Amino acid sequence: MKNILVVGGGISGTVATLALQQQGKNVTLLERSEHWHGVGHGITVQGNALKALREVGALERILPRTHPFTELQLRHADGRIITTVDTPRTGGPELPPTLGALRSELQSVLVDMIHEAGVEVLLGTRLISYRNEQNSVVAQLSDGTSRRFDLVIAADGINSETRKLAGITHEKKPSGLGIWRVVTCRTPEMNCASVFHHGPQYKAGYTPISADLCYAYVLTDPVRPDNGLSDTEELKRLLAGYHGPFDFIRESITEENMKNFQPIEWLFVDDESWRDGRVILIGDAVHACPPLIAQGAAQCCEDAVLLAEYLAQDGPVEALLDEFIQRRKKRVAGVVEASLQLADWELHPEQEGIDTAGVMAGALQQLTQPA
Ligand SMILES: Cc1cc2nc3c(=O)[nH]c(=O)nc-3n(C[C@H](O)[C@H](O)[C@H](O)COP(=O)(O)OP(=O)(O)OC[C@H]3O[C@@H](n4cnc5c(N)ncnc54)[C@H](O)[C@@H]3O)c2cc1C
Repeated sequence: MKNILVVGGGISGTVATLALQQQGKNVTLLERSEHWHGVGHGITVQGNALKALREVGALERILPRTHPFTELQLRHADGRIITTVDTPRTGGPELPPTLGALRSELQSVLVDMIHEAGVEVLLGTRLISYRNEQNSVVAQLSDGTSRRFDLVIAADGINSETRKLAGITHEKKPSGLGIWRVVTCRTPEMNCASVFHHGPQYKAGYTPISADLCYAYVLTDPVRPDNGLSDTEELKRLLAGYHGPFDFIRESITEENMKNFQPIEWLFVDDESWRDGRVILIGDAVHACPPLIAQGAAQCCEDAVLLAEYLAQDGPVEALLDEFIQRRKKRVAGVVEASLQLADWELHPEQEGIDTAGVMAGALQQLTQPA
């Protein structure tokens, strides 16, 4: 097993590429985008993701470009702190439990490392089709070439085309929620993640991503109303009922801030294989978790590092891949289940027995176990 094609240069594909290259494999990375340095938006990166990033040697470069913290504040929409909870250290006691970052900062570190490692990267290129042969895969690429690999790893995201090529019938589903995100200034006091409940929207919150920036979000209905407001005006309208630090955030929102709205979708291929012969799918291509406990990218990183560990073992490749898939499905199922439960409680707050903090803490506690 020497020559591997990785399809997709998001966090799953980049971390997998680094892990495999460091084991001496020849990796070719295919990314359909011409401009590969990743878009802005903030991301919460939890300890188990940091552990995987440490495995590929990226952590030291990432840490100085981010904002680590240890606590989560739960607040009332009027700004009052209800309680402050410690975040479980899912990456082990020596790593920060959580940090906030700009996605583009993470992506830049990973992309730089891939170039420094001399990996063959084909930008603006897609996988069109493939054919499994005895112990190899022949991949047809959009640049018109046809190339043979020992293994193809598809990390092409929630809209994966490879998923369809592999005959997987699962489709992404709507969560019933939408999310606005914006990057703004922050005050020195806003130095850990804070989530605001009991407001006019499902919930709102912010996460610090550097010494003076945070990303803020608000969970809403999944369809942006056609109310004639600009994105800036709409975001200020949605956040009008949130106070305390949100008064500062609202004032900091101008036309220039990076903003984005999207309906939240999810996917979990639980009852079909993630493998078709020598083609295996990882990351959001087979498990896109609604971001209610901010574990999606962490699960992607775990997939990538663990897959490389399995591929370093002796034994029949197909059997190793199936063992990997079985192990990952169990782990990811807990995250998806908890995230969907939390989404359901946001949508139907009239239910009895709602225990948002308990489910979140329970899911993260489970993740303190090895991936
Ligand atoms: C609103 C929102 C907020 C989130 N917040 C968090 C958070 O705070 N913390 C967290 O851990 N997770 C979060 N997540 C989840 C996280 O963003 C995803 O799990 C993760 O980015 C998925 O990475 P990926 O590499 O599997 O897929 P992607 O990031 O989608 O990457 C796929 C890559 O493949 C490329 N590609 C696609 N098709 C092809 C093809 N045919 N050929 C070649 N290349 C192709 C794409 O251009 C892309 O670069 C959030 C998700 C959402 C939607």
